[in-house]
Amino acid sequence: MAEWDYEQLWKETLDHIRGELGEQEFSLGFNIKYIRSTEHEIVISVPTSLQRDMIQKRYLTTMENKLKTLTDKNISIVFEIHSGHDKKVDPPSPPVPENTEITPALPRPQKRDLQLRENYTFDKYVIGENNNFAANAAMAVSRNPGNAYNPFLIYGGVGLGKTHLMQAIGNYLLNNSDNKIIYITAENFTNEFIQALQETRTAVFKNKYRYTDVLLIDDIHFLQNKLGTQEELFHTFDALYNSKKQMVFTCDRPVSELKNLSDRLRTRFEMGLNVDLQPPNYETRCAILKKKIEAKNISIPDEVIALVSKNVSSNIRDLEAALIKLIAYSELVGKSITLEIAQQQLKDVFASPRQSNMSIDTILRVVAEKFSLTINDLKGRKKTQNIVFPRQLSMYIVRQITEYSTTEIGQSIGGRDHTTVMHSCNMIEERIRADPTMDSIIQNLIRAVKEYSAKS
Ligand code: ADP
Ligand code: MG
Repeated sequence: MAEWDYEQLWKETLDHIRGELGEQEFSLGFNIKYIRSTEHEIVISVPTSLQRDMIQKRYLTTMENKLKTLTDKNISIVFEIHSGHDKKVDPPSPPVPENTEITPALPRPQKRDLQLRENYTFDKYVIGENNNFAANAAMAVSRNPGNAYNPFLIYGGVGLGKTHLMQAIGNYLLNNSDNKIIYITAENFTNEFIQALQETRTAVFKNKYRYTDVLLIDDIHFLQNKLGTQEELFHTFDALYNSKKQMVFTCDRPVSELKNLSDRLRTRFEMGLNVDLQPPNYETRCAILKKKIEAKNISIPDEVIALVSKNVSSNIRDLEAALIKLIAYSELVGKSITLEIAQQQLKDVFASPRQSNMSIDTILRVVAEKFSLTINDLKGRKKTQNIVFPRQLSMYIVRQITEYSTTEIGQSIGGRDHTTVMHSCNMIEERIRADPTMDSIIQNLIRAVKEYSAKS
């Protein structure tokens, strides 16, 4: 087969693609290895089906076209999944980092002491447009801890998959490297620190956190007002950062919106890469449900999946809870799940304020209040700038957080045409691009709308 050894050709192909995409996108997207080739085929390995799907979707045509240009032949690319793909060749006995063992009473953590949930892996994480960027960045961090993006910070609302993604990084490194990993919630970090202070064991605490290879701290919004813990984390951060150890944080909002956080810690959280998770759209909700159902080895009709996905739009945790309720019912009563049963059993879930499609009037009310206007100002015809901008903003927000069509939005906001709604959304998008503070103004408004509608 030597005649068709395309390994060199493959290297050149990738070099071309790297040149075109730039180093950053290339290293994010191309975790692949050459395996073998025949005359018309090159076989490459990828670590997971998830990465295979992503590479196929985004780059397969580019790669095949490139091969065609270089050889003038049609060579196809075949993927094989090799779970050991990313394993490093480890030295026979890995050196223990200095200073780790100065507290002999504390053994190195056992692998499963880690509080990482075994099923929070990349394989089980469905990628949609809402989390594409975050998931790809998390994979890049896993492949290249300490170097790709440090720190890496994921923010977004409750139940959107922050913890899952963070732990997927931990699980990946646990299985594919010798790194010492710590996962802890900011709350437990705080409690542990306070206890260490009380028992005058702060040296032990400091050593634990300053000499780990990977530190994952979940829900850092908990650190607001905790000045002592912030101070400690600041020093931990610098120690780890200087020795190129990977840190990952999650937060329920953008760091810029955290209150009572020291400036020096804030700037550190904002270094590296901050990405947000958005609520999944209908298609992604269906895909997530299907994946969960597959994992449980049960069968549920597609029409039920569609029903649940349509009616539970708040977040993935709620989506899972609805599914669990259905399965429990079906097991306890011994009936298989039908559309009627699903409708009956989940009617309260579907009707809860969190799932109700936020009403347009709620959004108008919150925006009007914020700009000291009335709902009628927003619906009306006046074209003064102090009204036009909030009006456009309301349309944009309705578009962002509800499933209403542009036609429906136009009708509800003063009987306007759908093109007016589209134009308004474009204007706001332009302003977001031109003015970096716009995005956080909008996020604040969206949060206010959600709080308002949760209360009502
Ligand atoms: P958060 O930390 O943002 O509140 P979690 O990570 O705890 O959210 O996610 C809530 C639940 O939803 C978990 O059971 C998680 O496995 C699941 N989940 C979240 N995002 C996804 C996804 N993209 N694909 C599959 N399951 C997901
Ligand atoms: Mg969480």
